[in-house]
Amino acid sequence: MHNIPGTLYVVATPIGNLEDITLRALSTLKEVDLILCEDTRTTKKLLDRYSINKPTMSYHSHSKLSREKDIIGKLEDGKNLALVSDAGTPSISDPGALLVRHIREQLPEARIIPIPGPSALITALSASGFDTSSFTFLGFLPHKKGRETLFKEITLSDRTVVFYESTHRIMKTLASLKECLEEGRKIALGRELTKKFEEIVSGTATELELYLTTQPEKTKGEFVVLVEAR
Ligand code: SAM
Repeated sequence: MHNIPGTLYVVATPIGNLEDITLRALSTLKEVDLILCEDTRTTKKLLDRYSINKPTMSYHSHSKLSREKDIIGKLEDGKNLALVSDAGTPSISDPGALLVRHIREQLPEARIIPIPGPSALITALSASGFDTSSFTFLGFLPHKKGRETLFKEITLSDRTVVFYESTHRIMKTLASLKECLEEGRKIALGRELTKKFEEIVSGTATELELYLTTQPEKTKGEFVVLVEAR
């Protein structure tokens, strides 16, 4: 075994626009021995764009424990690794958090260095106009168990609430918000941020429901939902 373990760099990548990558992220991706990717094909587009030719290996939410052991073994051997997800910051509603925790537990001598960059929740919050001094981030809402309880929490929250939503569930979520939020309470939707059809709209649940029902093409894409504090 090598005496000095390698470093794991947790590298944020663009959430759409490939130009949203830091110089430090690029130099890190160029210098490491191996890049761990949520989906190697997605990351290849980014690497090709910046002419980075490095070996990649998949690490995602269904990766087995043996893959994790393999990764920790590489760090023990002194290899430097970068961890990226398909978009944004790894570990934030994305693979990575568990790997980082296990490396901290099993190989505490290894350095874990975050390379900060885009995250959809911060991007949306920054342009929402809502109170950003404190907020609650809920990740993805559960589809069934615990969903109603969360809507109650959102309704009672005296902080801005931010969560991720998919094209398939955005209308259902708006309908639930319409049911539970008091009249006049504002919601903002950040859709396709940094991409061609980027849009940030705000209004009451009723207004946004009407807006999307009359323009169904606007229900497509990726969403960040923000609910104004009570
Ligand atoms: N780790 C990522 C981050 O730091 O933003 C989040 C990954 S999570 C699996 C993907 C979700 O983030 C999408 O379903 C969507 O809710 C949100 N998201 C990612 N990119 C987005 C974008 N360009 N515009 C709006 N929402 C986005």
